[in-house]
Amino acid sequence: MQAIRQQKSYDVCIVGSGAGGGMAAYVLTQAGADVILLEAGGPWDNLKDSAMLTWPYESPRRGGSTKERPFGEFDACIGGWDIEGEPYTTAPGSRFRWWRARMVGGRTNHWGRISLRFGPYDFKRKTRDGLGDDWPIGYEDVAPFYDRVDRLIGVFGSKENLPNEPDGVFLPPPRPRCHELLVKQAADRLRITCIPSRLSILTRPLNGRAACHYCGQCNRGCKVNANFTSTNVLVAPALATGRLTLVTNAMAREVTVDGAGRATGVAYVDKTTGADRHVRARVVVLAASALESARLLLNSRSGLYPNGLANASGTVGKYITDTTGTDVAGFIPRMMDHVPHNHDGVGGMHLYMPWWLEEQKLDFPRGYHIEVWGGTQVPGEGFMGGIHRYPPGGGYGKQLKDDYRRYYGATIGFSGRGEMIPNDDCYCEIDPRTVDRWGIPVLRFHWKWSDHEYKQSKHMQETFRALIAEMGGEVFSPMPTAEQGYGLATGGTIIHELGGTRMGNDPGTSVLNRWCQAHDCKNLFVTDGGPFVSQADKNPTWTILALSMRTSDYIADQMKKGAL
Ligand SMILES: Cc1cc2nc3c(=O)[nH]c(=O)nc-3n(C[C@H](O)[C@H](O)[C@H](O)COP(=O)(O)OP(=O)(O)OC[C@H]3O[C@@H](n4cnc5c(N)ncnc54)[C@H](O)[C@@H]3O)c2cc1C
Ligand code: SF4
Repeated sequence: MQAIRQQKSYDVCIVGSGAGGGMAAYVLTQAGADVILLEAGGPWDNLKDSAMLTWPYESPRRGGSTKERPFGEFDACIGGWDIEGEPYTTAPGSRFRWWRARMVGGRTNHWGRISLRFGPYDFKRKTRDGLGDDWPIGYEDVAPFYDRVDRLIGVFGSKENLPNEPDGVFLPPPRPRCHELLVKQAADRLRITCIPSRLSILTRPLNGRAACHYCGQCNRGCKVNANFTSTNVLVAPALATGRLTLVTNAMAREVTVDGAGRATGVAYVDKTTGADRHVRARVVVLAASALESARLLLNSRSGLYPNGLANASGTVGKYITDTTGTDVAGFIPRMMDHVPHNHDGVGGMHLYMPWWLEEQKLDFPRGYHIEVWGGTQVPGEGFMGGIHRYPPGGGYGKQLKDDYRRYYGATIGFSGRGEMIPNDDCYCEIDPRTVDRWGIPVLRFHWKWSDHEYKQSKHMQETFRALIAEMGGEVFSPMPTAEQGYGLATGGTIIHELGGTRMGNDPGTSVLNRWCQAHDCKNLFVTDGGPFVSQADKNPTWTILALSMRTSDYIADQMKKGAL
């Protein structure tokens, strides 16, 4: 198909405007580059489009989910597990789910904003336990960029001096709420480290943005811009420089190359007309999310690169991981019939538990952190999961209403988020038979958890049950059995997928070098979660942002030196 070619050539073409792409657009436009940003989804502006202050009773759905908004109709993120016309497949025997956003800002319009740095051990895990691989860089290489991200975007937290949970440039954390104080007491008694959470929400004004007013609705998008989205905090200022061209509804198909093997630009589909287009650029940055960037490279086949671009090592699509996860919720009688009090807070937890057993010998490697939920959220569709779960809840009419009031706020939940070790059975490749609505070949996933992850999930379940018992509560569900995988969530469902274009010093076993630059194609970079060598138990986005900033600085520097 003949693509409509643009005459103009940009300095940089970025694909995807989420965490990784938004940061690249911000840094490169600040550095003076002429940048074009291709985004598969439509426009969004929290200040106008957010449903932050909508009451559930204002909608007949009461906030229930829709196809485009699986997390509820007021949610700020458009996307989901299944996107019409954009399938993916799984190999026989594999289960994997892929959550994709389709809008400016990508998944940062919804994310939980848990903003944890990887620690020094996380970059060098193979040296510590012999599994997986070390990163070609260490914490000291990324630390200055974490600091700059903290100062630019804002994150609250507390100085703790823990060896593998580096402190940041923190704003003051919000105080724990009633249910969180009870969690803290139980954790202290069980000797589980429990500290203020670290979320990218402003508790003080920063860089012209207002402080949070504690309405607790972060996932709906913040109308006062007090939490982080790539949309409002990175892409909007990049546009304000006048050096960013943002093209929405632009679905990238492949990276094009010249006869010498250098990237020349990106071919994309204009989703509004279905027309094929091409944009030219000196440098191409892929940030379409880890797995989509691997897809783009695998689909960029040419005479020079028959197996896909940057894939001489054969490792594009390999070493993919997701966070391990399992949850337990319980009913805490002490929290029933509570005195009405101000329970406002940020849209997320005020406390969490970092991995506390680093030096202990366990039957699984690595570890997990614990996220805490509960309290008195705004009631909406699906509220409390049904009163019949609460002993002895239920009934009709007044009895039912009274029971809802009594039990409201008496639930506590714990979610484990842990580190998976990359393995040879988890990878993605191009499905030879399936294409999306634009004829672009789709990904096929292979997935298999190892015993490491199952054993970790068992430990999570036992710990959460012990915490609930310590609070005097009752869990809602029985302990999952070995046959049930100890409750380990299906691959992909924690939505922290990483790898597929990992970095390394050896071009034979990695796709990118230590600057996230393709070994085989010097003017091609990846700035999403693709370059990650290992998962860590930390949620990945703060590291995606820091690495994207580091890579973008490098690109700007190399362009100034004429090396790109
Ligand atoms: C419910 C939820 C909660 C989360 N909570 C946390 C958390 O608390 N902490 C944390 O660290 N992480 C969290 N995450 C994960 C976090 O959102 C991601 O790690 C982060 O957004 C990844 O950034 P990215 O730039 O790689 O991809 P994305 O944010 O997904 O952005 C990719 C962008 O690329 C666009 N795109 C895709 N394909 C193409 C194409 N072919 N052409 C053009 N554009 C394309 C997409 O439309 C999208 O806008 C959460 C995610 C979800 C969904
Ligand atoms: S809790 Fe704070 S940051 Fe979140 S939406 Fe409300 S005001 Fe904004």
